Amino acid sequence: MSTPLETQLEELLAKVKAYNPSADLSLVTDAFTTAGDAHAGQKRKSGEPYFIHPVSVAHLIADLKLDVPSICAGLLHDCVEDTEMTLENLEETFTREVAFLVDGVTKLGKLPWNTREERQAENFRKMLLAMAKDIRVVLIKLADRTNNMRTLEHMSEDGQDRIARETMDIYAPLANRLGIYWLRAELEDLSFRYLYPNEYRQLLEDLEATEEQRRAYVVEVEQTLRRLMARNDIRCEVHGRTKNLWGIYNKMRNQKRSLDQIYDVVAFRALTSTIRDCYAALGVVHEKFTPIPGRFKDYVAMPKPNQYQSLHTSLMGPRGERMEVQIRTYEMHRVCEEGIAAHWVYKDGRGGLSASDQQKFAWLRQLVEFQRDLKDPAEFIDAVKIDLFADEVYVFTPNGDVKAFPAGATPVDFAFVIHTEVGNHCAGAKVNGQMVPLRHKLRNGDTVEIITNSNQRPNKDWLKTCATARARSKIRHYIRGEQRDRGRALGKELVERALRQAGHSYQKMQKQGALKRATLDLHAGNKEEDLLMQVGFGKVTPTQVVRSIFPEETPAADATDKGGRLKRLTGIFSKPRRRAPSGIRVQGEEDVLVRFAHCCNPLPGDTILGFITRGRGVTIHKLDCPKALNLDPERRIDVSWDSESEVSHPVTINVHSTDKPGLLAEVSKTFSELKVNLAQANCRVTPNGRAINTFHFQVAHLDHLKQVMRALQKIRGVYSVERV
Ligand code: MN
Repeated sequence: MSTPLETQLEELLAKVKAYNPSADLSLVTDAFTTAGDAHAGQKRKSGEPYFIHPVSVAHLIADLKLDVPSICAGLLHDCVEDTEMTLENLEETFTREVAFLVDGVTKLGKLPWNTREERQAENFRKMLLAMAKDIRVVLIKLADRTNNMRTLEHMSEDGQDRIARETMDIYAPLANRLGIYWLRAELEDLSFRYLYPNEYRQLLEDLEATEEQRRAYVVEVEQTLRRLMARNDIRCEVHGRTKNLWGIYNKMRNQKRSLDQIYDVVAFRALTSTIRDCYAALGVVHEKFTPIPGRFKDYVAMPKPNQYQSLHTSLMGPRGERMEVQIRTYEMHRVCEEGIAAHWVYKDGRGGLSASDQQKFAWLRQLVEFQRDLKDPAEFIDAVKIDLFADEVYVFTPNGDVKAFPAGATPVDFAFVIHTEVGNHCAGAKVNGQMVPLRHKLRNGDTVEIITNSNQRPNKDWLKTCATARARSKIRHYIRGEQRDRGRALGKELVERALRQAGHSYQKMQKQGALKRATLDLHAGNKEEDLLMQVGFGKVTPTQVVRSIFPEETPAADATDKGGRLKRLTGIFSKPRRRAPSGIRVQGEEDVLVRFAHCCNPLPGDTILGFITRGRGVTIHKLDCPKALNLDPERRIDVSWDSESEVSHPVTINVHSTDKPGLLAEVSKTFSELKVNLAQANCRVTPNGRAINTFHFQVAHLDHLKQVMRALQKIRGVYSVERV
């Protein structure tokens, strides 16, 4: 650039003033001077002064019609990274807003994009938007990238390839999504030139060779269309244009055709003043030329998510060739050309979205699957500063792959996405090189590395910390499998013992297929393993198994009367069908032998744990029972209350009160009012003149007990009521 600095500044100020007349241009001038001083003496790879780059970026930002802080940030965007200046300097000299924008642009530039896989390009784009938080940061970054692409020839070949690839994968689609089509087209063509230099050159040559022909064709069609419109009294502007190179190349590649048909390269556009004229023009065109079925798209009635509006159609043109025509109003055209900038309005020098555009900007929300309802319009004025993906986080694998998670995801979620085995043995994690606990919440841009240990197993606590359905179902699956294994092992132990007591060998029975036959006999499943599991869960008794194999022998329970231990074992398991309902489901099964631990007497409503005992089915403890803490966690099993069940459970409470006549009468009145039948009551007086009253009774649910305790608490003279 040979223009002197003063001229460049003047041009920039004029450009800003044109769309934002009340802009505070002194701020722009300050930023221009500050950035110019900071970059003084620095050179670009081309040998030109470095400052040319930020100035060009600022010009592009002005083309996008962004606000003054954005222009300043454009001028200063490389200062923190490449000069002595700090963010604090920026904040002091300019504003917090400018510093924030520069910081955002710097951070986006540092994201490690190093893979070429398309499916994660989308995630990466979303991450950029998510991390930017303010859409202006993305736009400034786009301007920075565009200028770098325009001057890419000075880079090394490696650098060219990397930057062009990144531009094609990330920035061109971003521009597209933001509705800035001219920027997308330019970024695509610039990337194309470096990514496929031979194809690019070939296409350019081919286009040049056919240019004359094409021009004649364009003029012919333009005139035909214009005449047609005039004859039908439709005021309309018609232009033919050559599509962008990357678009043409892609079309050729997809249709496996060479560039022998000039028609594919040109598209026609008709601009009208009103929507009515759009449809009128469409009707005229369709009447004159045969439309190609399935090619008509009405984006006027149904705009694209990014607010693009136009009618698209393809027809058999005047030369019998396929001809593409887009019809739209001038206003639609402006929106399409300017993208997000078309929606920017300026008041008192500050940029924002007009009230009417807030509605239109629903696309921004759709675009990013932004779910939150914006009730307050003022909130959306801040639209430009929304947390676009509040519900998602994007993190990197150590290889640089991007993975998307719901907000709140932890390393456990991450591990299960990598591989089920990685999840199952996930012992710890490093986030950005630092060890973190497994419950650590992942943040956008984190690099996550999972540390596995073959001894590590999923446990129930993980269910509370993970955020993905996938991790949860994998953990549950694992825990269920583990419990089945335990049940099976216990069942085998029990059957083995019962057989031994009856004088038989388990191994022998197994070899002879007797266990398999018993399984079918007892309808316990198809496989021997099913039978063992049923025994383990107390659904089939070892005695039943022995009897099924040796029906002619004396029942095992009688035969082992003298055996003591086994008597207890089989006695408890006998006659399971007549067992009183327990009100407990073990892994969803209700007919399982359970007993309630006397140490904590759990009530329906209490949070409970089950333990598979040796020979006595499943014992139920309260979750906080100190005794349960000492039990073998290997024998833990999922249990829950059966909500249908109305089984009563014993409970004991202590009522501390004054030693006052009449109090007991009031207490028993309360019990009877609440339909409690006392089984037993004890009272004793303490030396300090107080009374401790202990009551034993039955309730069906924790809620009932709580009701009773609350009522007792209200009696005058009662200090406290506690469950024992
Ligand atoms: Mn830059």
